[in-house]
Amino acid sequence: MVAPASPFTGVVALDGPSGTGKSTVARRLAAVLGARYLDTGAMYRAATVAVLRAGADPGDGAATTTVVEAARIEITTDPAHQSVLLDGDAVDTAIRSDETTAAVSAVSAVPSVRAMLVAAQRELIGDGGIVVEGRDIGSVVWPTARPKVFLTASPQARAERRAGELGADVTQVSGDIARRDGLDSSRAASPLVRTDDAIELDTTALDVDAVVERLVELVRESS
Ligand code: C5P
Repeated sequence: MVAPASPFTGVVALDGPSGTGKSTVARRLAAVLGARYLDTGAMYRAATVAVLRAGADPGDGAATTTVVEAARIEITTDPAHQSVLLDGDAVDTAIRSDETTAAVSAVSAVPSVRAMLVAAQRELIGDGGIVVEGRDIGSVVWPTARPKVFLTASPQARAERRAGELGADVTQVSGDIARRDGLDSSRAASPLVRTDDAIELDTTALDVDAVVERLVELVRESS
């Protein structure tokens, strides 16, 4: 795969529901472009670990806000080495636990939590040269990102991919994805939506190389 000639200085937004292959292709795209990589989902997950560790109810907006305000969330932007720290402790395993996954949609639906994390994300994006993945990157965090890509895949393909990553049962994963999709798409504060100017890329029948190749083309076309 041939990277665009000059160093990439823009911002690529990759949004979409879970199981569409976002993280894998976002990291690979960043490596091909020589760009940084930001996983905003990892930040919402780290905030959720803080809430659970504090013994707060993820559904209690005020309690959740107090915990997240006091938490120090740091994240690396190197596509070859992604790590998240919560108050100085690496929480890379904790952010992927079933308990965290079950609570993250409630925590990320709290508007003041979103405001804090969006501000932190904008600071990390800074002068660009970065691929950013999430749910609201093209709609809220960085509306001038180019290209803005909305990844989709059939529910069956998404459940199979996620189950493969986690070594879990497809039926159980499929229920979890449907529940999180419902919560992420129906929340009042920056729900998961495809903006009119986003390019939809259906990854159901594509392997990782094919998706990355298409994304590199889209970057080239928009620069
Ligand atoms: O991408 P990932 O599945 O790790 O994201 C975990 C959760 O974080 C999502 O289900 C969603 O609730 C939340 N999220 C969000 N906005 C983002 C990224 C993730 O609300 N930009």
